[in-house]
Amino acid sequence: MAKELLPFYQDLHENPELSLHEERTSRILAKALEKEGLVVTYPFAGTGVVAVLKNGPGKTILLRTDLDALPITEQTGLPFASVKKTVSKNGTEVGIMHACGHDVHITNLLGSVRLLAQNRNKWKGTLVVVGQPAEEIGQGAENLLAAGLFKKFPKPDYAIAFHVHSLLPAGKVGYVSGPAMAAADSVSITVKGKGGHGAIPHESIDPVVIASKLVLDLQTLISRERDPLESSVISVGSFHCGTKNNIIPDSCQLELTVRSFTKTERNRLFEGIKRKAEAQSTSAGAPKPLVEISSEGTIATVNDPSLIAQLVPLLQIGLGKEAIEPFPPSMASEDFSYYGEQGVPAAMFFLGSIQDTRMKKLRKNGKLPSLHSPYYYPDVEQTLATGIKAMTTIVEGLLPPH
Ligand SMILES: [Zn+2]
Ligand SMILES: [Zn+2]
Repeated sequence: MAKELLPFYQDLHENPELSLHEERTSRILAKALEKEGLVVTYPFAGTGVVAVLKNGPGKTILLRTDLDALPITEQTGLPFASVKKTVSKNGTEVGIMHACGHDVHITNLLGSVRLLAQNRNKWKGTLVVVGQPAEEIGQGAENLLAAGLFKKFPKPDYAIAFHVHSLLPAGKVGYVSGPAMAAADSVSITVKGKGGHGAIPHESIDPVVIASKLVLDLQTLISRERDPLESSVISVGSFHCGTKNNIIPDSCQLELTVRSFTKTERNRLFEGIKRKAEAQSTSAGAPKPLVEISSEGTIATVNDPSLIAQLVPLLQIGLGKEAIEPFPPSMASEDFSYYGEQGVPAAMFFLGSIQDTRMKKLRKNGKLPSLHSPYYYPDVEQTLATGIKAMTTIVEGLLPPH
């Protein structure tokens, strides 16, 4: 099965599309699912695909793949590497690349559905197959739900997804019980001062100094105010002030990424960032800063512990004990979280994607790429073989024929 899907995968890899622009990708997936006999609704909520396969009475499983790629110029040197281009936010040309492996997820889902459609005696119930746009900007799941995913189609009893991992060897499936991936939020802070001549600082209020102190002070929200047993991150990824050496600017702009695993911690960080920003400005006699939390945030992905407890033994039987590994939670984020938030028991598994000996070699050279790297590529045949086996095992286990 994995081998026959390689041309399908390579075509997706060569033709990546950015978030909310997955027109070609969703069309190809919709057509392929139709061919397997599913009732396909496409396009749904922009560039989404929802396909239903009813196979007698029984429970309903949602199987989800994401569809989008990233603004990264591919450096893998693969014969089917992407040469597609786009223009980035700041006006420069950049490539488009499936650097997060969503092309693997699409192919894996298609392969699993094909097997399940061919072997209808092995399970009973309903599959709701979802091709979800815009995972990379954390919008796709919310868009699908707002468009009535759980009202216009059978509401699932379970939601399942796989995500490739670059630190797990191909052939393995990793699982986390409970909080698995962090909530991700972007916060921007405009630190306000009073501009003036660099040689006459006492007649200005210098926002560069206020913002610099703020960057350090923000870290005390992690090192001093957080319960040491909690996990969270604040990183200031962008710091912009001023135009010239002898001008004190009027304001500075900070862009932060904020990661957390619980609602309480997430709210504590929002409150703390605002408090620290205001305190630094007050201490300098500066105007109140503007603190904005972006609507692009994503809540934490929590794997249902009882569903994981049910699925791990099934996977151990289906794939062999050594293929299934407990895995640490990740500070990366996923909008798969929103299906679980609707009260559907949900589980996202990590799918090993780099062949063991290649991984060892890359690690030795200090060159093991993470996801979102221009050098990342999966050893796709082995990855798919494991992913398809795992996904069909899960469906057959949760929707038994008797
Ligand atoms: Zn990603
Ligand atoms: Zn991803």
